[in-house]
Amino acid sequence: MNERNLIVALDFPSVDGAIAMADRLDPSRCRVKVGKELFTRGGPAVVQALGDRGFEVFLDLKFHDIPNTVAAACRAAADLGVWMMNVHALGGRKMMVAARNALDQLHNPPLLIAVTVLTSLDADDLDEVGIPLVPEQMVLRLARLAHDSGMDGVVCSARELTPLRATLPAEFLTVTPGIRPSGAAVADQKRVMSPADAIQAGASYLVVGRPVTAAEQPLQALAAIEAEMAGVS
Ligand code: C5P
Repeated sequence: MNERNLIVALDFPSVDGAIAMADRLDPSRCRVKVGKELFTRGGPAVVQALGDRGFEVFLDLKFHDIPNTVAAACRAAADLGVWMMNVHALGGRKMMVAARNALDQLHNPPLLIAVTVLTSLDADDLDEVGIPLVPEQMVLRLARLAHDSGMDGVVCSARELTPLRATLPAEFLTVTPGIRPSGAAVADQKRVMSPADAIQAGASYLVVGRPVTAAEQPLQALAAIEAEMAGVS
């Protein structure tokens, strides 16, 4: 595990805010995540501006549509030069395979990751949409499907890491948000884990937002997380 396994979520309502934050970070020490809000405001230009500053970008748009549409969207995202992108596993095998095939035609494609079950959903929410499983069962089922459909990994909460690691190969990537270093505010995250514990549990990449972006000194906050990670081999 090295420092670049940290992905800083640039959850800013404006392009200027996101770029100003990026300018206070260091592309040799972290990657950055661009989500729906920032991309809807800034479009490809924000990805370009981050790339120009040396950052590798995780484009977190969670595509979910018919296979043909998702495959085309994945090609478009890859054309932006992003490092990682994602789709919803709930789009099904055909959709994920179409995304995989689209990217496989490219030289040096981005990593393709699947979202399993949104952590905002509990068992009652799943039941309401006709899924009679608890979230953890559904996560494992979708993670296996994502693996079989050629995804490079999944986004998962820290508490799902252990069961996932027990059933999927070590090279299958896990991208884990909800990370809180010791002493950081939990804010609206319900189930948090420290950087060291998440790595110990098998996280490949940690997504960290506010503990870094809301800090007075973002690079110092990053260094504190690196220090927590350094204790884990
Ligand atoms: O600020 P914080 O560290 O909570 O940010 C976490 C980032 O990870 C946000 O961009 C959030 O949308 C994202 N995320 C999450 N939980 C998920 C999926 C994504 O917190 N289950």
